[in-house]
Amino acid sequence: MSIASNLQHVRERIRSAALAAGRQPDSVLLVAVSKTRPAGDVVEAYHAGQVVFGENYVQELAAKAAEVSEAVEWHFIGHLQSNKVRQIAAIVSMIHSVDRLSLAEEISRQWGRLGRCCDILVQVNLSGETTKSGTTEAEALQLVRAVSALPHARIRGLMTMPPFFDDPEAARPFFGELKRLAQRIEAESIPGVEMRELSMGMSGDFEAAIQEGATLVRVGTSIFGAR
Ligand SMILES: *Cc1c(COP(=O)(O)O)cnc(C)c1O
Repeated sequence: MSIASNLQHVRERIRSAALAAGRQPDSVLLVAVSKTRPAGDVVEAYHAGQVVFGENYVQELAAKAAEVSEAVEWHFIGHLQSNKVRQIAAIVSMIHSVDRLSLAEEISRQWGRLGRCCDILVQVNLSGETTKSGTTEAEALQLVRAVSALPHARIRGLMTMPPFFDDPEAARPFFGELKRLAQRIEAESIPGVEMRELSMGMSGDFEAAIQEGATLVRVGTSIFGAR
């Protein structure tokens, strides 16, 4: 299968899942996860209508972004070390994986140097798996409050990565939990904080995530093939 036909199929599945949930299909943005794939795959996807790409590794992203001259938009979705933020500051438009204040402070500092503001999502670890990044559910509100005071980082919502299950239905409760957490944070009406984005759902479970309210789905394998 070509990248173009895979993309078309994923878009159709997103559309069906949204409609089945009584949502507008265009309320869900597809982030094509291109980690480990060559720049040529990104260009191919772009010519098939894909604009937003997600990357996990700083070095890889910087190299790929230098190779791709098309008007793609990059999101950073992986674990991020503060000392590498500077390398992606001029490249990405959103960071999905902010899980601690020190990282948000560095993001704000680097975007401030550029005279810009970075859209960020707070990553929440809902399963308690120690191998996964993310703030705890209990600490999320406190983190959001602290980050909201930073001048060049703007909180747009939350992100989560449930444990891996063969059955997407097993991931569904985590998606519902992220949505409810976002609603609780929204109810606090913290100045400068929006809970409009929920980044959740990958190749194996994006339909369940859309039914539970995802606005950003991060899909790699179903578009580019197995890594
Ligand atoms: C790799 C990755 C994805 C995409 O996973 P697929 O199963 O290939 O769709 C999504 N989100 C994050 C954070 C990832 O690291």
